[in-house]
Amino acid sequence: MSFSRRILIVDNSPIFLNILKEAIIAECNFLPEVVTAVSHQQACKHLKESKDWLAVISGYELAGAPQGEFITNTLEYNIPTIVLTSSLNASDREKALSLNIVDYFPKDVNCFEDVARLIEQLKDNHKHKILIVDDSPAFCSFAERLLLNQNYQVLICNSSESALQTLKSTTDINLTLIDYILPDMDGSKLIPQIRKLRNADSLPIIAVSAFNEKNIAARMIKAGASDFLLKPINHEELLMRIRNSLKLVTQIRVSEQARKEAEIANQAKSQLLSRISHELRTPLNAILGFSQLLKGDGNLDSDQADALHEINHASHHLLHMINEVLDLSQIETGKVKLHPGIVNVSCLIHETVSMFSTIANQKNIKLELPERSEATEEMITTDPQRLKQILINLINNGIKYNKPGGMLLISTSTDEHNITIRVKDTGLGIPSDKADMLFQPFSRLHERTHDIEGSGLGLAICKNLVELLNGELKVNSTEGVGSTFSVTIPKELDPKPHQPEYFI
Ligand code: ADP
Repeated sequence: MSFSRRILIVDNSPIFLNILKEAIIAECNFLPEVVTAVSHQQACKHLKESKDWLAVISGYELAGAPQGEFITNTLEYNIPTIVLTSSLNASDREKALSLNIVDYFPKDVNCFEDVARLIEQLKDNHKHKILIVDDSPAFCSFAERLLLNQNYQVLICNSSESALQTLKSTTDINLTLIDYILPDMDGSKLIPQIRKLRNADSLPIIAVSAFNEKNIAARMIKAGASDFLLKPINHEELLMRIRNSLKLVTQIRVSEQARKEAEIANQAKSQLLSRISHELRTPLNAILGFSQLLKGDGNLDSDQADALHEINHASHHLLHMINEVLDLSQIETGKVKLHPGIVNVSCLIHETVSMFSTIANQKNIKLELPERSEATEEMITTDPQRLKQILINLINNGIKYNKPGGMLLISTSTDEHNITIRVKDTGLGIPSDKADMLFQPFSRLHERTHDIEGSGLGLAICKNLVELLNGELKVNSTEGVGSTFSVTIPKELDPKPHQPEYFI
């Protein structure tokens, strides 16, 4: 159903009409068609020609209509009506609100902005379809008029059965008002049925009841209602609750949409990174290959040999970084396939640590491992390659960020379902104010470690890999004292693919 852009404003003063018209046109985010009338007679003529108005804005008393006759008229046609009053007191407020108008404002400098804001709201209201489920004709007609006058779209059902059918066939209903007592099924039974069709994030339900039974509000909310109101219902309160519920659902929808868009953008970024890294590897391998060949050339002087060494070293570092980017983007795009196998954890740890014995010796770092015994030969089912990759990263960091003469201890512990591998170092530790960034890609947390090579991707990859193995990576660290990284993974890897959500 399309919404009308036409707004009729009525006032005895042409100057006021003009200012209000300009303000509405300037403030509204859509192009309204504003028609003005300086008298009751002129306004009635416009109403006779068409009933299709987004809103009528008028003074309560007009020359020739001193008792609010024009307002009564517009409301009979269910045209949303905003009333401007020259004076405002409690009895005027009561009188105006009891008429079912959208709202009223005193005629002062603020009213232009207020009116424009309300018109935006009316335009918005029209997007919302509200279903009233009640077998009382009096309540249905009261609620229908109230909502139509606020420009909502309204549907009515008199029984639970027809409500369920309507919700099945009309999937764009945005809110439901449900009476507790219904002829075929009471509200507390109907609401759980509705929840099977639509969850609370997409369909707020406001339950209403004329019976103030004990705990009725709690019971209805427990059954799945989002809110509860006791009859007789105060117009303003009902409208405010409807507005709040709809606002909340709209915010949830908008943030869900933003989350999905960010996920799509993230996937696109990961794919791009993956392609670029692939393309970069080919020329880089050529540089590495040819520099390797040149190394064997006996005619190089020492400067040339030094330069070649630099080329070789830098190319290796670059290749390592490219491989890490490729790895992370492949994990993010769900391209990493796990290959589970039986793993002897102790064996894997010894094998991995032995790769670092030379570098640890050079840096005078003592490596300590659990003694191999039958008790430590834990056999688990996981992806051995990926577990090894995680350990390589953690051990490498434990050496890189250690102090000369430091220690690196690796230990394991198990419970019924999980195994935990701890990599503990006596190194620099992690600055507490930067701990939050530890697993963020490209974060390097130490300022004075320019000489330590790294890309800031290793731990992001580790965390993703541990999660792929259905496990958890934790850290405990004290700056200046050292860090312990703990990898806890299940002994039996669940074959279901598990893709963590990750954003660079
Ligand atoms: P990289 O080592 O390539 O910089 P990582 O993702 O492995 O990347 O680590 C990110 C940052 O976390 C490092 O730059 C370092 O500042 C800090 N860090 C990682 N491991 C340790 C550790 N064992 N001790 C102290 N700091 C560490």
